[in-house]
Amino acid sequence: MFTDEYFMKMALYEAEIALEKDEVPIGCVIVSNNRVIARAHNLTEALNDVTAHAEMQAITSAANFLGGKYLKDCTLYVSLEPCVMCSGALSWSQISKVVIGARDEQRGFINKKLSLHPKTEIIVGVMEHECSSIVKEFFKSKR
Ligand SMILES: [Zn+2]
Repeated sequence: MFTDEYFMKMALYEAEIALEKDEVPIGCVIVSNNRVIARAHNLTEALNDVTAHAEMQAITSAANFLGGKYLKDCTLYVSLEPCVMCSGALSWSQISKVVIGARDEQRGFINKKLSLHPKTEIIVGVMEHECSSIVKEFFKSKR
């Protein structure tokens, strides 16, 4: 029951909430022992803050929940590949696993030849189609 798809759907649901607020639709959840301990979506417009990416907020909120800064034994599910800023934050958090929906060839960390913490397992392409089309549709509607 607790598959990568199961939690990616929750990340995608967060992206849909962002879309309703006219934010770039990216969402994520952080899971520990099959329990969601943080959920967030992009809020850069609402907060007037370029750092208010879903991942940044979820990292802070998961650390608050755990009462420690390191996210060991945690998995982040994010609908779009993290950017350079978020990959840096994820690296500092020492998170155990990162599951990515769709790739972001232009702004994602992978093409920038960056990696996360050496111990972090990375999985790419879970529900890729759904995760990428919500972003594509959003930008299409903006043109
Ligand atoms: Zn980011």
